[in-house]
Amino acid sequence: MPSEFGTYRESRCKTGLPQGRGRSQIAGFMILPGSTLGVLGGGQLGRMFAQAAQSLGYRVHVFEPAADCPASAVANRTFTADYRNEEELVAFARSCAAVTYEFENVPVEPLWKIESLTRLLPHSSVLEICQNRLREKMWLKKQGFPHVPFAEVEVNGDLAAAARRVGLPCVVKTADFGYDGKGQRKVSDDASLAAAASAFAGTRAVVERYVDFKCELSVIIARTEAGEARAFPVAENIHTKHILDFTIVPARVPAAVAKEAEALALAIAERLQVVGLLAVELFLSDRGELMVNELAPRPHNSGHWSLDGARTSQFEQHVRAICGLPLGDVGVRDPSVMVNILGDAWKPTVSAPGVTPNWSAILRAPRAKLHLYGKGEARVGRKMGHFTVMAESADAALDQARDLKSQL
Ligand code: AMP
Repeated sequence: MPSEFGTYRESRCKTGLPQGRGRSQIAGFMILPGSTLGVLGGGQLGRMFAQAAQSLGYRVHVFEPAADCPASAVANRTFTADYRNEEELVAFARSCAAVTYEFENVPVEPLWKIESLTRLLPHSSVLEICQNRLREKMWLKKQGFPHVPFAEVEVNGDLAAAARRVGLPCVVKTADFGYDGKGQRKVSDDASLAAAASAFAGTRAVVERYVDFKCELSVIIARTEAGEARAFPVAENIHTKHILDFTIVPARVPAAVAKEAEALALAIAERLQVVGLLAVELFLSDRGELMVNELAPRPHNSGHWSLDGARTSQFEQHVRAICGLPLGDVGVRDPSVMVNILGDAWKPTVSAPGVTPNWSAILRAPRAKLHLYGKGEARVGRKMGHFTVMAESADAALDQARDLKSQL
């Protein structure tokens, strides 16, 4: 491990957070079933959060600018309005005992309003760090957590100089609003550097060293206000075109690496004082070093396997964590592989919407589970659903998952 990895252990008690706005000082509070929970964002994560909350007896209100979103189909009430519509936001916040969010790209100012009216969990101070790649990386660096070496590029700054500092090949990413590889490109020579400089002109960016990783891992942590924390088993993730394709649990890495990844993720959640879930995405380098790639303070795509393969799903665990309930057992029921189903499976074209895939093979497989998010239009790269295959080993589950995917 890099030498700086040690530093976070010694200074574990310092949060290093910006001044929290409206941070609750109450330890050990509990929001009981029957109460109403709110979620900002109405995509599939909001939908699965709502389903988990409702099965524990909570009511769920969703706030989402787009009409007809996946979560509104299951919510007790949906507020359809822009995040800057203060009147609706206030009504939403007042109707909820606590509010959470299902994605990072919520503007932070409306969150301060919500935080002044009810509990917002994880706190806005956590989201402020995690929603901007540059702030997140600077925070990781300051706290001494291992991360991918990077350089900052100001708006209209010298991208070439930053790339030289980091070294080629490198990856240029927008500081704000990036996910699933959006707003990023690899630079490996002068021509791609010039192309990136014009593509990122007028944008604040981060230049990261390109990591020739052995594999990608993620760890999902749940933490309560009282400080109880649990790590889901380490997941191994395979991306295709920057989008998660397969998640394999348990990750096929040595036990010492898994233990170290868990300890690192727990330490980050503790230092951020997260209440709720925190997903920590990591690269495992060829030299066996773990480096944090990204943080997400919410349920994560790489945790979907837990709906079928774990004793407690990440969505139920998020509900438990924000409500101050005892956390659930995160043990693996069976080695599992989750496969994302993208709109590509419909084979849509510019002029035609495509054809619904044939689900029969997945539905017939005795140890596979299909989850569809109820989205109307299948577009290339759009997450429409996922399926999870369970087997006696991770390798056997992966073989079967690949086979089932090929039959879609
Ligand atoms: P991100 O949106 O930053 O999570 O990136 C999406 C995916 O792109 C990651 O899961 C990796 O597969 C790949 N990627 C991102 N950054 C790097 C990097 N610095 N080196 C190598 N691959 C990367």
